[in-house]
Amino acid sequence: MKIALIAHDKKKSTMIKLAKQYEQILSHHDLFATGTTGEKIMAQTDLSIHCFKSGPLGGDQQIGAKVSEGEMDMIIFLRDPLTAQPHEPDVNALIRLSDVYEIPLATNKSTAILLLKELENLAEN
Ligand code: PGA
Repeated sequence: MKIALIAHDKKKSTMIKLAKQYEQILSHHDLFATGTTGEKIMAQTDLSIHCFKSGPLGGDQQIGAKVSEGEMDMIIFLRDPLTAQPHEPDVNALIRLSDVYEIPLATNKSTAILLLKELENLAEN
């Protein structure tokens, strides 16, 4: 599966913890991320990730383009709901596209864990 990982700044530590916890299962998939998120995950795990531009510089839009081309299968997007983002329109556009193309997208840790556990289930069965 092609999986995109994105985390707003205040959610990056949560994303890194998730990536470490589920590193084994994630390592079997093609991973993509916005720039800073991807670099931080790679610095703390052995995962290999294709990094797009940083989110505020167009990374969310690049991932959206992949969704529209049928080249993204799952997105974990840990949003910070308490901080205004300069690229809010891009964030909303990505979420909208994931709904248009019915791509599973988690916007918080609890849903992310459900998706990651399902990946484990799919691998076991
Ligand atoms: P970043 O982008 O991983 O480059 O910080 C995430 C975002 O804010 O969309």
